[in-house]
Amino acid sequence: MRKRYALAHQLRHAIEKQHFEVFYQAKVDIARHTIVGLEALVRWRHESGRLISPGEFIPLAEESNLIEPIGQFVLVQACRQVYAWHQQGQSVPVSVNVSAVQFLNPVFPQTVHDALLQSGLPSRLLELEITEGVLMHDVAAARVTLEKLKQLGVRLAIDDFGTGYSSLAYLKRFPVDVLKIDQSFVRDMLTDTGDSKIISAIINLGRGLGMELVAEGVEQQAQADALHRLGCTIMQGFLYSRPAPAAEVGKVLSRLTLP
Ligand code: C2E
Ligand code: CA
Ligand code: CA
Ligand code: CA
Repeated sequence: MRKRYALAHQLRHAIEKQHFEVFYQAKVDIARHTIVGLEALVRWRHESGRLISPGEFIPLAEESNLIEPIGQFVLVQACRQVYAWHQQGQSVPVSVNVSAVQFLNPVFPQTVHDALLQSGLPSRLLELEITEGVLMHDVAAARVTLEKLKQLGVRLAIDDFGTGYSSLAYLKRFPVDVLKIDQSFVRDMLTDTGDSKIISAIINLGRGLGMELVAEGVEQQAQADALHRLGCTIMQGFLYSRPAPAAEVGKVLSRLTLP
């Protein structure tokens, strides 16, 4: 407990000093051979110089009321960065992860509106990733919030799909554009036919509802081939790129012809 307390204290300090960096990981359409989006992933640059991954501090941030300032920082930072690339002729949409606490706050749509306005980013270049569990927590309220976000013109994705007990009946009533197939299914799909069947079902479901499908955690060519055969062409994973700082990603973008 003392360790957690110390970490929460350091996290509060890091927020004041803005000791966070946003990394970006490409989403690749293997049928069109191009980057179709970037996911913004936060990192904490600890005073010791060590880079701390979100898995180590996001849960703590969520419990100690620190996730909103962090989420706000990532949202604004990502919008500004992608606007800068857009201005340079490299228009690529960015996906930002939204925590439960942010999504359930009634001011969230206004916060997104403000971030777009402040940065100048066209709303079609912003996608919000919301996990399934958050949407199912209060379906009616979630739908109202999703509609408000949709009215801003942003794209909406359900993250970690397949892990959160979605009611399929509600899925069709949510104005969602993208389903992200959870990486746990991709990890074992070559050896576990159950996982590959689940992926196939998710792909057919998403397609039937007119949604875009993205597979996460693609590490091997054989996984990409199998996903392609099942009908999913948009991939994210170490096979294509690791999350990297904006400066590195910018160099890659400037060498590409984007869609
Ligand atoms: P996520 O949203 O599911 O993000 C994907 C995670 O999978 C990232 O971990 C990414 O680096 C990792 N990944 C990508 N490709 C591969 C692969 O081929 N193999 C494997 N094994 N992993 C891969 P990361 O950056 O450590 O983030 C972990 C989680 O922390 C994210 O999971 C997300 O839930 C959360 N997170 C990250 N940034 C933010 C943020 O700005 N706000 C909030 N609320 N949550 C965030
Ligand atoms: Ca995500
Ligand atoms: Ca995910
Ligand atoms: Ca399995």
